[in-house]
Amino acid sequence: MDFIGQQSIIENFRCNMAQNALSHAYALTGPAGMGKRTLAHYLAEMMVCADTGKEAPCRRCRACKSFEAGINPQVQVIRSETQNILIRQIRELIDDIGIRPASGRKVYIIEGAERMTPDAQNCFLKTLEEPPPYAVILLTVSNFESLLVTVRSRIVHTRLEPYSIEELAKIGRANGKDLTGKEYLVHWSQGVPGNLLRLLGDTEFEENRKAVMEFVFHDDGFSNLKLNQYLSRKKELFPECMNILESIYRDALLVLCNVEDGLINSDKKNNIIEYAKSHKPIELTEKISKIQEIRSSLKRNMNYQLAVDMVTLEI
Ligand SMILES: [Zn+2]
Repeated sequence: MDFIGQQSIIENFRCNMAQNALSHAYALTGPAGMGKRTLAHYLAEMMVCADTGKEAPCRRCRACKSFEAGINPQVQVIRSETQNILIRQIRELIDDIGIRPASGRKVYIIEGAERMTPDAQNCFLKTLEEPPPYAVILLTVSNFESLLVTVRSRIVHTRLEPYSIEELAKIGRANGKDLTGKEYLVHWSQGVPGNLLRLLGDTEFEENRKAVMEFVFHDDGFSNLKLNQYLSRKKELFPECMNILESIYRDALLVLCNVEDGLINSDKKNNIIEYAKSHKPIELTEKISKIQEIRSSLKRNMNYQLAVDMVTLEI
């Protein structure tokens, strides 16, 4: 077992494989960075592996080895070569799917299936409905609703689950990232491994966090001015800084409710406890409401500098 997370999906496939009850087409869905593609490739290897039991993918048999070398003829990957997945690519798939393998299954992975043009999707319908019994089609798609309803009705919708904190930490380590002292990033990833890996290499996020922390914990004229200047400099920083600010107030609220486990900013626990001591819950919820109010005013085209001033003067 070497895929981290998504065990219920994997077990479900394994179980259906053993009972010869696999569906002919699946859509693996979830936000960007969830590992849909990685999971699709893992399931494909599992489905073509010579071992049909718990060991699959065994990584030792000929099918696994050729899969890992990217030359297993029984697994085809279709992805956009330009902006879209074109009808020509789907026609090639349809031609290929008709050729019966000597043994075992054939698996087709359509990566980023929402990129299929409407023509390509329409051309695919008949095959999606009734592919040959040896074929399984896996689509990875961020937004299931973006597929034509006629396509959606022909495939099994499988949503990836958010990863647990332990799983995310394992994924970080498996990617050679050292999480020591950065465990809080796991909370910031919202169950999405791609977010974690991005944050681990993101110095701007650390700078934003430092600026916002200083504003909250020092809470004096100088730190207000500093954050004001920081945010005025670059508009793009604002949404993330507001998320950080909100997370600190939420953490302080949790502390006031005697829930100290599960703080997002767990590395600043002592500062947050100290901060919470001098605030009432109502003050914190008002601050959170204010952030939400400023966010929506900005969406309605409020002047940016005014928004920055409101954050540093009124919160
Ligand atoms: Zn194998």
